[in-house]
Amino acid sequence: MPDEHIDQYLDFFSLFFLLSDSFVSQKMLPIELSQLQNALLNWFAEHQRDLPWRKNYKAYGVWISEMMLQQTRVATVLDYYDRWMRALPSIPSVATAEEGTIFKLWEGLGYYARARNIHRAAKQICEQHAGEFPNDYEAIRQLPGIGPYTAGAITSIAFEQDRPIVDGNVIRVLCRLLNLDADPKAGSTQKKLWQVATDWLPKGRARNFNQGLMELGATVCYIQQPSCLLCPIQPHCQAYIHQTTAKIPRRVQRKAPTPVTKAVLVLVCENKVLLRRPEQGLMQGLWAFPETLVKEEEPLVELQAEWQRRNRPNFQLQTNWPTLTHVYTTFLATLHPFYCTLTSIQDDFTLEAEEQWHPLPSLQKLAMAKAHGRLRQSLLNQNDQDSS
Ligand code: SF4
Repeated sequence: MPDEHIDQYLDFFSLFFLLSDSFVSQKMLPIELSQLQNALLNWFAEHQRDLPWRKNYKAYGVWISEMMLQQTRVATVLDYYDRWMRALPSIPSVATAEEGTIFKLWEGLGYYARARNIHRAAKQICEQHAGEFPNDYEAIRQLPGIGPYTAGAITSIAFEQDRPIVDGNVIRVLCRLLNLDADPKAGSTQKKLWQVATDWLPKGRARNFNQGLMELGATVCYIQQPSCLLCPIQPHCQAYIHQTTAKIPRRVQRKAPTPVTKAVLVLVCENKVLLRRPEQGLMQGLWAFPETLVKEEEPLVELQAEWQRRNRPNFQLQTNWPTLTHVYTTFLATLHPFYCTLTSIQDDFTLEAEEQWHPLPSLQKLAMAKAHGRLRQSLLNQNDQDSS
């Protein structure tokens, strides 16, 4: 067939892919689909990374790894997974652990709602499923923090059920295979991709096929400059054929995080430090130094004024530490930390709700919000310096 005819043939199929709702399963020739599936499965068998949760595919390990991997890279998760499994080797051990222990094991991974949900789900599994992870998709969906992706991952990877999964890596691979130039987060695109992921699943091979798609996205089909020459499914990739890999999947501009400025008080007295532990909000359950919203210009003056307004004793500034920034989900915080002391804790020093004096020597044992964990390290260094 002359080249221009091949191009017309391919263009026809690309157009068809974009217009049809369940386009691929019905129109991809069975032989081509089977070639794609085999190529991916063979590639995964040979190139998969040696990851601890792949050793025995126990549901507990798959679940914890999937929860940790949301918004987090594999390289970061490995140490966390290892520490978690050594400390909490079973679902009942999670259910009976203190929330502080759970948060300490999660400290630094961010998005702490995930840890809280694991804790709640473990309790639910113990109450309703005798401590055994359920293998029924609908029962899994009833657990806190488990949506269609995580339920699909657990049922297919741990229990080898024919369930599809669509995560960020799979979205990228499928959009490129289909040359699908659409907002990947849009509901209509998601619907199409879930349909394709369902239709392309080889019966009885979901564990490796799903992992193969994710592994390919993570190690070959990169966001920038995919390694198409090493890709096992390149002959089936419409974006490669049409040289559109640089613009697919379509990038959608995210709203910039809102900037906020805070003064943070690292207040030490009698070998104790003043901390607070919010019971709600983004940092719920995590320890933090008290902080006050300020304007950029005079954070210390504003902090002192706030302290006075609350009738609290004057602290003595020792030093202001370097400013640090931290991105939370929707805002960018600039923190101005001030290391201060009080000579003694007077009887009339009233602690506010959520506040507590905590002994300096055991500060490391607490789970702290990430930016505050960095300030804790500065405080411990300062303390070493002062006492040497
Ligand atoms: Fe991704 Fe390139 Fe493979 Fe297509 S050929 S799936 S763009 S790595």
